[in-house]
Amino acid sequence: MAHNSVVAIANQKGGVGKTTTAINLGAALAMDGHPTILIDLDPQGNASTGLGIGVEQRQRTVYDLLAGSESLTDCLMATDIPDLSIVPATSDLSSADVDLAQTRDRTRLLHRKLQDAPKGSIILIDCPPALGLLTLNAMVAADGVLVPLQAEFYALEGLSQLLTTIKHVRQGGNPDLRVNGVLLTMSDSRNNLSQQVEADARATLGDLVFPTIIPRNVRVSEAPSFAQPVLLYDPASKGSAAYRQFAREFAARLKLVKEEA
Ligand code: ADP
Ligand code: MG
Repeated sequence: MAHNSVVAIANQKGGVGKTTTAINLGAALAMDGHPTILIDLDPQGNASTGLGIGVEQRQRTVYDLLAGSESLTDCLMATDIPDLSIVPATSDLSSADVDLAQTRDRTRLLHRKLQDAPKGSIILIDCPPALGLLTLNAMVAADGVLVPLQAEFYALEGLSQLLTTIKHVRQGGNPDLRVNGVLLTMSDSRNNLSQQVEADARATLGDLVFPTIIPRNVRVSEAPSFAQPVLLYDPASKGSAAYRQFAREFAARLKLVKEEA
């Protein structure tokens, strides 16, 4: 793979599985041999916590990357998974919208800093639950957007607003921005509602919806309190199996080939 793939994991709804997907897709891709960088772009810092980076360890954060002179390499931290690194976030990021409002090219700050990423990396950006300046920075920097959709009643609501934002980003200087696809999360196969939402999503969005669905699985929700991806916390769980399978589909859709040694 000659250049980098930059993926914004976005949905302005909270609690739909963005962070869980960023952590576990990142872990699965890295364990499959794809060097992966996770950018924690949410002031809540849940992706950082979930990968074992305690608040007191977060020396240089994504805020420094956006607002300061730090380079991407300056801000990268290693995780327990060899090929997975992260730029952590702290709550100071919550004032970024205000602090950066007067900055020139304020939607291109992340794009610029990602230019010196190691060649052949996959860069996953965990977006906050809003379509503000941070998510715009992610979309301007990205090649594609991955949209987690929780398999619940109002799942498709809000999607048109997200697609409108993507259209604006295309018109505003990132014409090749794609939608990588839609991932159904927290699905309960015993629940008719989940099945109905899946049928609706596939009827409306067609092949954009990934074949793999992430099931609701208690091991997935427990893993963050052990500061681990579920792939390390319980590799045999249904949640781990689903994220491993999804990572292969995702890599195939990105047309990634593993670097041969
Ligand atoms: P977002 O980043 O979109 O706000 P999260 O990834 O933080 O969403 O997920 C919201 C909550 O749902 C978290 O408590 C998370 O642990 C839980 N969760 C996410 N995916 C699953 C799943 N497949 N099974 C069970 N719980 C899940
Ligand atoms: Mg999140």
